[in-house]
Amino acid sequence: MGTRGREIVGMDVEELLQLLNAAFASEWFAYYQYWLGAKVIKGPMKDAVAAELNLHATEELNHAVLLANRIVQLGGTPVTNPRDWYDLSPCAYDAPEDPYVAVLLAQNIAGEQCAITTYKNLMDATKDKDMVTYNIALTILEQEVEHEEDLQSLQEDLELMVGRGLGKTR
Ligand code: FE
Ligand code: FE
Ligand code: MG
Repeated sequence: MGTRGREIVGMDVEELLQLLNAAFASEWFAYYQYWLGAKVIKGPMKDAVAAELNLHATEELNHAVLLANRIVQLGGTPVTNPRDWYDLSPCAYDAPEDPYVAVLLAQNIAGEQCAITTYKNLMDATKDKDMVTYNIALTILEQEVEHEEDLQSLQEDLELMVGRGLGKTR
């Protein structure tokens, strides 16, 4: 633990650690939901969508790294048991039980929207109080906003393709 680094935090550090661990748990859910989705996916454009899901999985794992590093820096412990992820995470784990590409896209878009809310809240909580965490939350938020747009753009392409009918003339 860095003592001076912890002293300059202008908010309750235990409360901050809870927020960081909640986000950390959500990142593992996001990582696994993407990772598994990319394995089981079926339907039109599945290779393009799987490539994006795999990329997002690695990016979610990196968010977990950023959060774990900050938790340790503040003298906390990243949640040690995956069993606790369900209680801590503000975002649900949405199991990819239906592998159809449109279903996976909708599930992961909902996950990104929850992540955007989570990091907006973390930024609001740390603004003018903990610049270091604020900056980490901004870095992650920028990527979650990008993720949402990537998936909605794929969803739009899929709707155009399926909605107009493959091989049909207009
Ligand atoms: Fe993330
Ligand atoms: Fe994301
Ligand atoms: Mg992307």
